[in-house]
Amino acid sequence: MSYLKLKGRLTAIIGRTIKVMQESVINRSVPRLNQNYEPLPVCSARRAFLLMFHGKAEMIEPANGLRLRTPTTSYSLPSIVRLWQYKRVPYKKIMLSRKNIIMRDKHTCQYCGSMRGSMTVDHVIPKTRKGRDTWENMICACVRCNNRKGDRTPHEAGMRLLKHPRRPTSITFIQRQVANPDHRWRQYLFMD
Ligand SMILES: [Zn+2]
Repeated sequence: MSYLKLKGRLTAIIGRTIKVMQESVINRSVPRLNQNYEPLPVCSARRAFLLMFHGKAEMIEPANGLRLRTPTTSYSLPSIVRLWQYKRVPYKKIMLSRKNIIMRDKHTCQYCGSMRGSMTVDHVIPKTRKGRDTWENMICACVRCNNRKGDRTPHEAGMRLLKHPRRPTSITFIQRQVANPDHRWRQYLFMD
């Protein structure tokens, strides 16, 4: 049998195996690293496995105990993969929006640290005081803190920010995509 035929047959077997695998296993988020180890947006375990299977990526870390079994062989599923070829990623400016401010601040009120309930966006220097719409002047705040602060500066209201707000990088958002980070990803996703 020619190599191509063999590969075709194997691809079909893999495809069938993936179809019957548990959704929770095969749809898990897997971080992808570019060839130069720069984090790329995450993909599913299915996609990461296929990238490896087709020789486009290498496994950096295996997923503990998770394997893809065909009748004749079994493969480790990856926990994190790296592309063999450098992928050019167009520079994407992250839009300043309510949703992105709240995502940057991890749905955490930047005054009291609460993560509960709906969040609002607060202008640190109020708009009535010429506070601008910028990443550095807008933060996630719970309704209570936002009402308490009102049209005052944090200093006037006797409130302190948990941290200085900054413009997020694309890595910030990749970090947010991984809800339950595996400790082995930390070094690659700069999470420490
Ligand atoms: Zn609060």
